[in-house]
Amino acid sequence: MNSSQAEATKGDILVVDDQPNNLRLLSNLLTEHGYQVRKVLSGHLALKAIQVNPPDLILLDILMPEIDGYEVCSLLKASEQTRDIPVIFLSALNETIDKVKAFQLGGVDYISKPFQLEEVVARVENQLTIRQLSLQLKDQNAQLQQEIRNRITTELALLDLNQELENRVATRTEELRLANEKLQQLEVQLRQALTQEKELNQFYNRILATIAHEYRTPLTALSSSAQILDLYRDKLTPEKQHKHLQRMQSAVKHLTRLVNDVLFLSKTELDKVDLTPVPLKLAEFCREIVEELQLTATNRHTLQFNYQENCPEREWDERVLRQILTNLLSNAIKYSPNGGVIDFQLYYEQDEIILQIKDQGIGIPPENQARLFESFHRASNVGMIQGTGLGLSIVKKCVDLYKGKIYCQSEVGAGTTFTVKLPL
Ligand code: ATP
Ligand code: MG
Repeated sequence: MNSSQAEATKGDILVVDDQPNNLRLLSNLLTEHGYQVRKVLSGHLALKAIQVNPPDLILLDILMPEIDGYEVCSLLKASEQTRDIPVIFLSALNETIDKVKAFQLGGVDYISKPFQLEEVVARVENQLTIRQLSLQLKDQNAQLQQEIRNRITTELALLDLNQELENRVATRTEELRLANEKLQQLEVQLRQALTQEKELNQFYNRILATIAHEYRTPLTALSSSAQILDLYRDKLTPEKQHKHLQRMQSAVKHLTRLVNDVLFLSKTELDKVDLTPVPLKLAEFCREIVEELQLTATNRHTLQFNYQENCPEREWDERVLRQILTNLLSNAIKYSPNGGVIDFQLYYEQDEIILQIKDQGIGIPPENQARLFESFHRASNVGMIQGTGLGLSIVKKCVDLYKGKIYCQSEVGAGTTFTVKLPL
């Protein structure tokens, strides 16, 4: 029943019968009861009328020429558009078998002719109510299905959103972890830099203190000799004058060495020493240094130099090698106040050059040996022997530049051996 008709009438009914009398009677009856009625005289006309405008209900006579009610009903039930229109059969066929057939073909009711008018109205009303209810149910069903479909779509979208959120959280977590790792690395670097800075600061403070302390003695000597020469030159014998000049020269030498040591060390502290290797005959170079130092030693010391022939050649930085050798050799001389043999060996083993310097001096107490290579550290048994405690730290820095190793073996009162191993 479409809505405009529904408002005007109680329903649109198609009456199909080949007997005009019947047709008129039924039409009048139903019109009186508020229905809109269309009437046709044959099955063919009925099919056409239904196709043009499907009614809400069909009253269908069975016995008609050409195409009977059963066939019309079968055709209606076979088509999607007309399947749901309720069909009430009207017939003079009153055998049970005819009624059963009518229901089997899809009829909703069966009215026997001759019919009672009240019965027709009641059955028509009944079927239209059923149809109305079933249409409402169908509507509700469709609505429900749509709602379910919508809900499923929403749930799926939510699931997608959830997954997306989970993915985003995972990505963000990973990003955070990486950032955190980086931060930790930075912190470690910062700490290292701070420690280095602190160590460097301590080093410079020590240097300042040492300079203040160590410079005073030679500067005083310089100043007093210069003053004496200035004031009393004429009254002094040439020997005395010469002695003061020598004292001044030695003070200058001492100061120069101190300045050089400090400069060299601060350069190595800042990693600013670059190796400048040149081809060098190592044994000859060592012999020259031994000879130079022999001049500074007293005649109580004997410097021996032995070396292995055919030492493999490589290029060396002269300045760095000189630092290593002069410091170790001059220590050996300085810390052997009673003289003795100073034995210097140069040999090689596999891929290493070995420099070994052995003395028969005062030795180093075991408790002082661990920190020997730190700047300004001196052993407790040095007594009056002068020194700043920089020599061995310079040696260590030089050995490190060559990625080498240095070892010390010592016994108080018996002597000390320093061994340096440099990779070839
Ligand atoms: P500098 O060399 O700067 O003039 P220094 O000789 O005191 O002063 P290092 O050469 O660094 O300083 O030596 C550190 C300390 O190691 C010395 O003060 C000394 O106590 C000890 N030492 C080094 N070499 C020997 C050695 N051959 N025999 C005994 N003690 C030594
Ligand atoms: Mg020294």
